[in-house]
Amino acid sequence: MVAGLVQRDGNRAWAGAITVVGWMVIGMGVSLATRTPAVADSLARVASGAVDITPDLAGGTPVWIAGYGMGRRATGVHDPLFARCLVVDDGSTKVALVSVDLVGLQFPEVLRIRERLTEFQYVLVSSTHNHEGPDVIGIWGRSPIHRGVDDAYLDQVVEKVVELCRQTARRLAPVTAEFGTATDESLLRDSREPQVKDGILRTLTLTGADGRKSGLLVDWSSHPESMGSKNSLLTADFPAATIGWLERKYQCPITYFSGAVGGLMTPPRNRIRDDNGQYLNEGDFTFMERYGQAVGELAARAVEEGSSAVRLHPIQIASQRVYLPVENALYRAARGLNVLVREATIWSGDPAQKGAPLSLENADQTMAIETEVACVRLGDVYLACIPGEIYPELLYGQFQDPVDPNVDYPDAPLEPHLDKILAGKKWMLIGLANDEVGYIIPLCQWDKVPPFAYGRKESQYGEVNSCGSQVAPILMQALRQCAMKLESAR
Ligand SMILES: [Zn+2]
Repeated sequence: MVAGLVQRDGNRAWAGAITVVGWMVIGMGVSLATRTPAVADSLARVASGAVDITPDLAGGTPVWIAGYGMGRRATGVHDPLFARCLVVDDGSTKVALVSVDLVGLQFPEVLRIRERLTEFQYVLVSSTHNHEGPDVIGIWGRSPIHRGVDDAYLDQVVEKVVELCRQTARRLAPVTAEFGTATDESLLRDSREPQVKDGILRTLTLTGADGRKSGLLVDWSSHPESMGSKNSLLTADFPAATIGWLERKYQCPITYFSGAVGGLMTPPRNRIRDDNGQYLNEGDFTFMERYGQAVGELAARAVEEGSSAVRLHPIQIASQRVYLPVENALYRAARGLNVLVREATIWSGDPAQKGAPLSLENADQTMAIETEVACVRLGDVYLACIPGEIYPELLYGQFQDPVDPNVDYPDAPLEPHLDKILAGKKWMLIGLANDEVGYIIPLCQWDKVPPFAYGRKESQYGEVNSCGSQVAPILMQALRQCAMKLESAR
């Protein structure tokens, strides 16, 4: 066990039963099944775990906080950062679903984690997009020419996540599961036109054979940035308060995932009040607590009023490597300065084809980065895994209509949207899944050059933190292909 690994095991009493069910699944004797506890979904075994990944501030290496401007040095810790994990095993396929309280762990680090976990058929590592944790990308260092990442810390995160998945998988226990939803758009602010939110919070409630809750997965779409740009204390932001509130209520481990945070989904202004009825706003730990609790209360509504039983088996995975052209000149410049350190190739013109290596001779050509899109089926529940900050428009097909004539691509075809790709299915959108490639903006709303949409004098915020205009079409096509692969495998 690595130092700091938090054991959250509500299933020890079932240690014997776990072994028996394991035998049953691999077919070593049906007679043993009579010794297993009666559960509706005995083919799915699940365990949760968490490990502290707070950077060490005592070591002397500065920790640069990611998410707003650069040069924000951490001065202390308000609450610890965690990697949290849910392992699901249907007897033949075992997957780890990991969430980290970071701004956006990059795909190369996820590949390093997976290399070490070959006993899993799939490992998902999603970042909550925490804006009050350490830089793990590079662009928030001391100055524009200083990389903000401590590579030794990244190594620790990789090591701890690997060990977390292994430790959690040793505690698998049978569960029944319920999928739930509850909606409250007032808990979100959309800072960019058009106003489209994903106000639906989704839950997966796991109940052990003893009838007690053994885990809860929460999927909610809001930037963890309630503490704002002036804070210098490391914190997991409002998800820490959501998780704390739900842990106290249900006495079980909580795994929190961020969904569609692009577009741009943030905590609301003038919505959350203190004990005296006064509005609380960004940059205040009381606001963080109260907003986190409000999200927790919404999750409790999903658990208690909006849930229905689901199967978690069979588990099926369809994933696809894709190459994204990087049009963003700032990203290219940061790479040239070794502020962004990541393998890149020449854009081949085909998102499925890796291009030639970058060299001095071809440095003027468009470069591309490798990432991944996936669709994970846990029985009745589908996890759409998108490697960045997707706009909610791409979930529901609620594009600006009619298209504003001043956008850069007014005739762009509309991307296939998630709710249509997975029509009739129970789904969760896992944002920043295995990567953070920045904003994923519908092509018909891409608006970088004048004249600007909505009669504005300047571009709306978004494009500056996107790899480019082609990201959304490429990723949504890849997601559709993954969903089709799953459908043909049924
Ligand atoms: Zn963001």
